[in-house]
Amino acid sequence: MSHPESPEQSKAKKQTRLQSVKGMNDVLPVEGIHWENLEVMLREWLTSYGYRLIKTPVLEPTSLFRRGIGEVTDIVEKEMFSFVDRLNGDELTLRPEFTAGIARATIQHNLTYAAPQRVYSMGPVFRHERPQRGRYRQFHQLDVEALGFAGPDIDAELIVMLSRLWREMGLEDVRLEINCLGEAPERLAHRQALITYFEAHAELLDEDAKRRLHSNPLRILDTKNPTMQDMVNGAPRLSEFLGAESIAHYQGVKRLLDDAGVRYIENPRLVRGLDYYNLTVFEWITDALGTQGTICGGGRYDGLIEVLGGKPTPAIGFAIGLERLLELYLEVNQPDDTADLDVYVVHQGEGTSRRAFTLAEELRDAGFAVVLHAGGGGFKSQMKRADGSGAAVAVILGENELNAGTAAVKVLRGESKQEEFKQEGLAEAIFGLLYGEGEES
Ligand code: ATP
Ligand code: MG
Repeated sequence: MSHPESPEQSKAKKQTRLQSVKGMNDVLPVEGIHWENLEVMLREWLTSYGYRLIKTPVLEPTSLFRRGIGEVTDIVEKEMFSFVDRLNGDELTLRPEFTAGIARATIQHNLTYAAPQRVYSMGPVFRHERPQRGRYRQFHQLDVEALGFAGPDIDAELIVMLSRLWREMGLEDVRLEINCLGEAPERLAHRQALITYFEAHAELLDEDAKRRLHSNPLRILDTKNPTMQDMVNGAPRLSEFLGAESIAHYQGVKRLLDDAGVRYIENPRLVRGLDYYNLTVFEWITDALGTQGTICGGGRYDGLIEVLGGKPTPAIGFAIGLERLLELYLEVNQPDDTADLDVYVVHQGEGTSRRAFTLAEELRDAGFAVVLHAGGGGFKSQMKRADGSGAAVAVILGENELNAGTAAVKVLRGESKQEEFKQEGLAEAIFGLLYGEGEES
């Protein structure tokens, strides 16, 4: 006998109901199709530029990110999911980005020993940020790295490659911002000038800025604080400190972008969040996604691999935020969201289920994608499932068909028609029914 739940009981049940971790999303099957299609599109595009897959662990030693991203960055200061493995005391961190892990793997396996490498990786990354539209605690990136190339041709290749992707995806309103960060000595001279300038305007600095004044004054230029904007706009520009080689590199990138017809906005304020960047940095931004409009960011990091203990290895890469890219793509396109299914097999009656099982395998042998109805039910309810499945045809097997060695085939999309065929050669018959007459008698 069952009693109605008391309010206490139902409250207790609610409290124990298991939920995903805040800011970490499930991708349900209806969205899964879009993710799959996106990944197929991306892999084709990457292959067409010769990029090859690399996979590194989701967990890395915390020290890798501290050294590889920089102590005084948003990520390392406040966004990492770090913990101590209670079984052995190891300090571990869920990767907040791919580059450090790929750089580690490059060193560990001497990856660029014989030749430079074009690699990509795709998967979840983790940052402890305030969840909102376009900003999650687990999100996905496509990360692309060109290791062992000094550029500027490779810098331009990466950017041109991205512009092709947007074009192929039908995304028109994505703008490109670029900047040149120069080399360490140039940045150092600029940094000194910045500190002097900010010290002269100390009364306008907020807490964040004061804290960063000596550790990372460059990041003060990134401030979103409106009361600091005018002062920051008047700060010394890095471009005034660039030497001939940096300028030549930057000109080289821009010339190739011009040749390719890729438009860009030069943004001297673009510094990007990570410590290790030099020379070329860039971002692709859209206004169609609200405030989280950056869908891709990248840059050169010639010093990183050496900082992590490897041989000096020039390199450049970028990361695309896939949630943001997918949202933008779905806004612009109405992609097909039906499953890629050919046949739904409906069966009822004693003995037919056994035959349906083997018949479905025969159809798969012939190359069809087939769902065999499971869970019983009458023809009517099974046909409803078939209709909802997105399959091109239903193959119907009842007692009569079983005895006659036939199967009924009903076309589910477009003009509806139904015909009966011999079970032998059924795949060819379905093919003929769907794609035209002629081949079969
Ligand atoms: P933002 O300024 O938006 O915080 P970021 O500079 O921290 O971006 P990158 O480290 O360059 O971002 O990461 C590359 C891309 O990953 C971003 O351009 C964005 O599309 C995406 N991204 C970054 N953080 C998140 C997040 N918390 N949730 C979803 N996507 C993100
Ligand atoms: Mg960020």
